[in-house]
Amino acid sequence: MLDAHGYAVPDAASPFAPFSFERRDPRPNDVVIAISHCGVCHSDLHTARSEWGGTVYPCVPGHEIVGHVTEVGSEVTGFKPGDTVGVGCMVDSCKHCDACNQGLEQYCENGFTGTYNGPAQETGGNTYGGYSDTIVVREDFVLRVTHPENQLAAVAPLLCAGITTWSPLRHWKVGPGMKVGIVGIGGLGHMGIKLARALGAEVVAFTTSPDKKADAIALGAHEVVVSREKAEMKAHRGTFDFILNTVAAPHDLDPFLLLLKRDGTLCLVGVPAEPHPSPSVANLIFKRRSLAGSLIGGIAETQEMLDFCAEHQIVSDIEPIAIQDIDQAYERMLKSDVKYRFVIDMDSLQPGG
Ligand code: NAP
Ligand code: ZN
Repeated sequence: MLDAHGYAVPDAASPFAPFSFERRDPRPNDVVIAISHCGVCHSDLHTARSEWGGTVYPCVPGHEIVGHVTEVGSEVTGFKPGDTVGVGCMVDSCKHCDACNQGLEQYCENGFTGTYNGPAQETGGNTYGGYSDTIVVREDFVLRVTHPENQLAAVAPLLCAGITTWSPLRHWKVGPGMKVGIVGIGGLGHMGIKLARALGAEVVAFTTSPDKKADAIALGAHEVVVSREKAEMKAHRGTFDFILNTVAAPHDLDPFLLLLKRDGTLCLVGVPAEPHPSPSVANLIFKRRSLAGSLIGGIAETQEMLDFCAEHQIVSDIEPIAIQDIDQAYERMLKSDVKYRFVIDMDSLQPGG
């Protein structure tokens, strides 16, 4: 087994603390990665605090991982020591169900293995994520990073925030001639704005934080609407082809459904701890609107997104933090005070503390 060091929460109510554990010895198809940076996703917070239930402790979150390969198993053909790589929300899946065969491992019919809080066959316990110095991952779930090395920290959030917004934008064929809304300018939302703009859509950002207006334009939005201002919302009624809602808290969906054209879709990616109030059926049926959801993205699609971002020089806007500051980062995330993703610099992780 390989020695690993990271930060874990011991239960739903305690702060993070240094945590030493073991990673499996690499199997023939495994890649060993020295983690240089890990993004901080709101899902990490939901899981660390067991807001969705089912968290096994100790819990080491983190699924926006970038770093360098240090070792590969004997059957690995796609990676070699020194390669710059990423790992997202999944580290394994069955690879033989219909979903996996279609490259949709996130919808694996036998359940994918989450990068953290997923079942770890080798120990009988749970997987530990990227708030740590090293990880061992099956080759099929390792992504190639081609951005310049000095952008690595800002690439990390692409592994979840990037793919979670890219996948629905691609599925609903967002492109030129479409008017697209992005709701919530946080980690996911700010990537949604950048990607929808790069795909050629007309982009409107929706925020509850008026102080983010200038930033939203700089990120690529053509227009910004403060969603709590009824008149601003009304001006856009019935005009959107597609709206992506990234908000992490329960809220009324009807004001957004009303913004859709006939046949438009409101896609939810935020997963609040408590449900949204049920939306009005009338708003759906009178214009044949759809309310949909989307989960991260498949591995091939994640590689496609990373390559697109490298080609279009897209990275995340980040605030680097030391791992010792993770509890404080969570508190700021709860106040929507993130511009626009915290990324842990793993150099801050000292052995034993
Ligand atoms: P985040 O950085 O905290 O951003 C969420 C944003 O939502 C905030 O910045 C804020 O934007 C807005 N917001 C927060 N509270 C609000 C409220 N009470 N009412 C209205 N807007 C509010 O979170 P994130 O990392 O982007 O994650 C967002 C959600 O997506 C989380 O629930 C996370 O678990 C989920 N997620 C889902 C998937 C998936 O596969 N579907 C993948 C990753 C994450 P403004 O200040 O602009 O209003
Ligand atoms: Zn995430």
